[in-house]
Amino acid sequence: MTRARMPRPHEVAAARRDTRLLRALHERQRDEAWRTRGLCQSVDPETFFPAPNEPADAAMALCHTCDVQGACLAWALEVGDCYGVWGGTTPRERRAMLVAWRGEVQPGVTDAARPLVRGRRLTPVPLGR
Ligand code: SF4
Repeated sequence: MTRARMPRPHEVAAARRDTRLLRALHERQRDEAWRTRGLCQSVDPETFFPAPNEPADAAMALCHTCDVQGACLAWALEVGDCYGVWGGTTPRERRAMLVAWRGEVQPGVTDAARPLVRGRRLTPVPLGR
C-alpha cells in the first residue's frame, strides 16, 4: 500500500489562492441543506469515486455546474474526507486544501483531533508562507 505524501509548501500556498477554496470558506455553514440540492443526487455514486488510475472528468464537470459546490467542498474539508470527488476537487487537490483549510478555519484544533489521512496526521501550515 502506498502512502500519500504530505502536500509541499508551494502546493498549500497555491491551495490558499484557489477560488474553489475561497468559495468554500465563504459558503461554509451557510447552506445546511446543500446535500439535497447537489446535482450528484441523480447520478451513479460510483462516478464520484473513480479508481486512482481513472479520470474524474465526468464528476468534475458535474460539480463545476453545481450550485452547492462551495458548501460541498467546505463539508469535505471539515470532515477531512480525502476519498472521491467533492465540491469539484479531486482527493489529491484536497490534501493541500485541507492543510490550508485547517490553518484558516480550525487553527485551534489539537493534533489529536485532526483526522488521519492515510496514516498521517495533517497539521496546519502557518499563514503567510
Ligand atoms: S459539488 Fe459535486 S459532489 Fe458536491 S453536491 Fe454538487 S455535484 Fe455533488
